[in-house]
Order: sequence, then structure tokens, then C-alpha cells
Amino acid sequence: MVMDRHEHQQLNEAQDSAGRAARQGTELKSEIKSLEAKLSTLATACQAMWELLRDKSSLTEEQIQSKIEQLSGQMGEALQCPQCGRQVSRKKNRCLFCGIEAESDRVFDV
Ligand SMILES: [Zn+2]
Repeated sequence: MVMDRHEHQQLNEAQDSAGRAARQGTELKSEIKSLEAKLSTLATACQAMWELLRDKSSLTEEQIQSKIEQLSGQMGEALQCPQCGRQVSRKKNRCLFCGIEAESDRVFDV
């Protein structure tokens, strides 16, 4: 098959695009592995804290589970702006109306 100049250009562009997609795929796999490693570390830390709370405090597993369920239900809730009282996204942490930073009431907010 004989390709003309335009077809050669299209083929090169398609090959470049495929190369970029392959590199992005490799980068994303690397990021996923890194996140999986962090998740594994956090899961281990949570398990350790869970067992310490259960074994070394007066809290029962039911009380710990109940608290987790309570917090899970609140995860999507907005913060309240300390200046104007409006709702502030937990992800933004800054009031859209007055610009004040709303500090999270949680130690582990991400
Ligand atoms: Zn505000």
C-alpha cells in the first residue's frame, strides 16, 4: 500500500497519540501503586488503633463502629464559615462569599 504525505502525517500523529496514551497509562499505574501503598499503611494504622481502643480502653467494638458510622454519614456535610455562617465546601476550605478559611473540625480531613 502506498501512502501519500497526508496519510503519513496522520499515521505519525496517531502513533504520537498512542505513545502519549501509553505513557499516561504507565504514569497512572505508578500513581495507583503509590496510593495503594499509602492505603495499606493507613489501613494498618487504623487496625492498630482499633485494636488498641478495643483492648486498652473501656470502649466496646459496637461503640467504635457506631462512631465510624456517624462520621461516615457526615463526610459530605459542609463546614460553616466562622465569619458569615454560610456553608463552605470541605474540599475548598475557603468561604466563597467572604474568603475566610474555614478550619475543619477533623484531624484527618483530606
Ligand atoms: Zn464566609
